[in-house]
Amino acid sequence: MALARSRAYVIGSGPNGLTAAIVLARAGLAVTVLEAQPTIGGGTRSAELTLPGFIHDVCSAVHPMAVSSPAFAEFPLAEHGLDWIQPPVPVAHPLDNGGCVRLDSSLERTTRQLGLDGPAWHRTVEPLAARWNQLFAEVFAPLHIPAHPLLLARFGLSAAWPATTVARSLFRTREARALFAGIAAHSILPLEDFGSAAFGWILGIAAHTVGWPIPRGGSQRIAGALASYFESLGGRIVTNAAVRSLDELGDADLILCDITPRQLLSIAGARLPDTYCRSLERYRYGPGVFKIDWALSAPVPWKSADCARAGTLHLGGTLDEIAASERAVWNGAVEERPFVLLCQPSLFDRTRAPAGKHTLWAYCHVPNGSTADMTHRIEAQIERFAPGFKSLILAKHTMNTADLERHNANLIGGDIGGGSVHLPQLFLRPTYRFYRTPLKSLYLCSSSTPPGGGVHGMCGWHAARTALAEAGLLRA
Ligand SMILES: Cc1cc2nc3c(=O)[nH]c(=O)nc-3n(C[C@H](O)[C@H](O)[C@H](O)COP(=O)(O)OP(=O)(O)OC[C@H]3O[C@@H](n4cnc5c(N)ncnc54)[C@H](O)[C@@H]3O)c2cc1C
Repeated sequence: MALARSRAYVIGSGPNGLTAAIVLARAGLAVTVLEAQPTIGGGTRSAELTLPGFIHDVCSAVHPMAVSSPAFAEFPLAEHGLDWIQPPVPVAHPLDNGGCVRLDSSLERTTRQLGLDGPAWHRTVEPLAARWNQLFAEVFAPLHIPAHPLLLARFGLSAAWPATTVARSLFRTREARALFAGIAAHSILPLEDFGSAAFGWILGIAAHTVGWPIPRGGSQRIAGALASYFESLGGRIVTNAAVRSLDELGDADLILCDITPRQLLSIAGARLPDTYCRSLERYRYGPGVFKIDWALSAPVPWKSADCARAGTLHLGGTLDEIAASERAVWNGAVEERPFVLLCQPSLFDRTRAPAGKHTLWAYCHVPNGSTADMTHRIEAQIERFAPGFKSLILAKHTMNTADLERHNANLIGGDIGGGSVHLPQLFLRPTYRFYRTPLKSLYLCSSSTPPGGGVHGMCGWHAARTALAEAGLLRA
């Protein structure tokens, strides 16, 4: 197929859609991005959700994967307005004794702080951190013959296990066990599942290599920079343009879909063979989330001063508590004390709130499709480690799984990862075809393809390169 100067459409303007659009535009195609919502960005939108002057990240807030992404590194995003802020401490995990355990940007400081467990952390992390770029490129790609097999094998030896097994066998202190559980819980898997430890290691190593930064001005700036670069390449973005059927794109030579399997079935099912439709129907979505944003009159009064230096906080107490909370959502229940992921961006970015005031972002995992109101339980978890927090609330905005899906149709039942990452779906997403579909000019490029959820653009990058390679247009 001679695709140069051909017409390509990308359905959806999330980070993967915009990355795919850029790759296609750089190859010379005439690319149009069609976005259902009035604003672009998918999971990287910001808005005044509570009060005027308070800028909240509606979905993603913290971006270790974005700053590690080889795709984003190739794009001149700083020239298009993207500026990263590194909070002094990437992650703090407060405990009931009033102290807290930190995942520091410095490996040495983290090792010292972990005391008895410092050597085990250092021994596992140091060799992998030293080759972070190579490791990231191997892991954030579809199944392939590795360029660095020994490095990947070394990672696999620590990563293939359940997070609970790693925490209990490698670490002896409750601090290190809790810290690892909190990081691994980003997987949204039961922590007893094989492979859940991988998320603990990847995000842990990222803290020591690239940090857990936030974009100045909010996550919308990521989408804004990608869109601005795309438009500088001649690309076109149309908002309020929900695609309901492929028939609407009659003149397309190529279509890349930043949507999940259920939506692909809805817009293209009539053209797809039954066997592929059945595979898509078997695709599993994971738990949802319940999200809260607050406008505050002052910073959160953490018992532990170290918590005020952290961009991200993990509120859930011990390994056992966190594991119970994550297991419960897979059993269709929620714990009284859910594991809470929290970010306090305005402490480090004064553009987020009026002078002296603050924004706060948090969510917890809930069963897929749950409409349970978790406000009280999330706020109780914050009060547990920061008594007096509730008296600072000026306004709040909550989103249950249905609200999230209304905000972004990709958040099926509130699933923020584009599908669960249990084995083997972690690797075979959404089917063994990865980005390809049985239709020659139709590809998937969302987080339902490898390497999965998070703001990194690598799904879009690999999908667009696959499409270009199959059209003979991929330049070395
Ligand atoms: C509450 C929450 C917190 C998160 N926190 C983080 C975080 O801190 N760090 C991180 O890295 N990741 C985080 N994520 C995950 C991250 O946002 C996603 O993994 C990422 O945005 C996926 O990108 P995507 O391009 O695949 O899809 P999306 O970003 O979901 O974009 C899909 C786009 O397609 C559009 N669309 C859907 N259907 C159609 C249609 N038929 N026609 C036209 N357009 C359509 C949608 O409106 C949307 O704009 C979070 C997500 C949520 C919801």
